[in-house]
Amino acid sequence: MYNYKILYSGVINLDLQQIKNIDKQYYMNTFGERLPVAFEKGEGMKLYSTDGEEYNDFLGGIAVNSLGHSNPKFINALKEQLDKLIHTSSLYYIENQALLAKELCENSCADKAFFASTGAEANEGAVKLAKIYFYKQNKEKYEIISLDKSFHGRTLATVALTGQEKYQKPYRPLTPGIRQVEPNNIDAIKEAITDKTAAIMIELVQGEAGVYPMDKDYVRDLRKLCDEKEIILIFDEVQTGMGRCGEYFAHQYYGVEPDIFTCAKALGGGVPIGAIGAKDFVAGAFEPGDHGTTFGGNPFSTAAGLAVFKIYKEDNILENVKKMSSYFVDKLSELKNIYKDKIVDLRYAGLLIGVELEESIAKTVFNALFEKKYLTSLCKNTLRLAPPLIITKEDIDAFISALKTTLEEI
Ligand SMILES: *Cc1c(COP(=O)(O)O)cnc(C)c1O
Repeated sequence: MYNYKILYSGVINLDLQQIKNIDKQYYMNTFGERLPVAFEKGEGMKLYSTDGEEYNDFLGGIAVNSLGHSNPKFINALKEQLDKLIHTSSLYYIENQALLAKELCENSCADKAFFASTGAEANEGAVKLAKIYFYKQNKEKYEIISLDKSFHGRTLATVALTGQEKYQKPYRPLTPGIRQVEPNNIDAIKEAITDKTAAIMIELVQGEAGVYPMDKDYVRDLRKLCDEKEIILIFDEVQTGMGRCGEYFAHQYYGVEPDIFTCAKALGGGVPIGAIGAKDFVAGAFEPGDHGTTFGGNPFSTAAGLAVFKIYKEDNILENVKKMSSYFVDKLSELKNIYKDKIVDLRYAGLLIGVELEESIAKTVFNALFEKKYLTSLCKNTLRLAPPLIITKEDIDAFISALKTTLEEI
């Protein structure tokens, strides 16, 4: 047996090997061989592992920890809420829920909001809303078009929306009425539209695919097309939302308003919360009993969302994203010029950055950065960077130097 203490808050004093052993025995193996590290605390851009090593977080829990780790203002707000109330049912009014809905609408193109607990759940809700909008008008419009290489989540309907064979294959037959077409190709969308098309759902920047921003013209054309054909345009902003691209939402960065958008990852600063934002005309299709959730928008998760908004304003987070994005991209472009045959492409929107590497070296570069204590993620050949939005020039300089050394070495 292992020698460990169980506290009310969980288990402590395990080393990595002990954690791995228990994980192997008891946790479903959906993540395979994970990176050999477990973290026990964090501060700002830093994460500290159970074996006392310091890591630099350039992934931010995959675009979640926008305020960094253990942000004191954020933690205080959470503690204050914990001392009052964690959860009540949505049978009652919830102050934080109402206030966060107001905040979300005032800082986006939405008129109304609804809260879920994850990105996938928000996307499911968005699609339900588009469908019920036509259902209530007795219109037979229920088909949904999404894009190849997209990622919309892991539930059954969002897997059907996710244009990647590996995620869909084991779960066939998939939710019917959903199909994918080539991204950035307006003719492909036109061909796929039928008189039954209810909605088109896209990511403005395909994050999971390796950071592929959509062309502005394409997004504008989509908007026009949806207006002409009476189709609901849905932006999945689960990854791009809440400041990642330098505006609160990527639809502001693009200057194109969807009818519905979703948001999750960074919205709760690490506390699980997802959101649907919608224009009044479509939001009104949800009437009492049409949709619901137990946890979505509870007092604790919406306190987290409110704190995130408040700190963004007080600490000028969006300003920092813009400045640091251009600084980071300039530095990466310099590297790309030096290592032309190693860095193949550079794609970004704000602080969602993809550094596409030559195929044969991508995995080696990723591993070498991990060895140097830099956390990133690898999407095929592309290093995806989604650091906390509090990042500084010094953090960026240190990363650039680590990447440069790595590219020099291999
Ligand atoms: C992460 C992500 C999702 C899924 O969010 P979950 O919280 O994991 O369900 C959906 N869409 C996009 C664009 C994402 O990046």
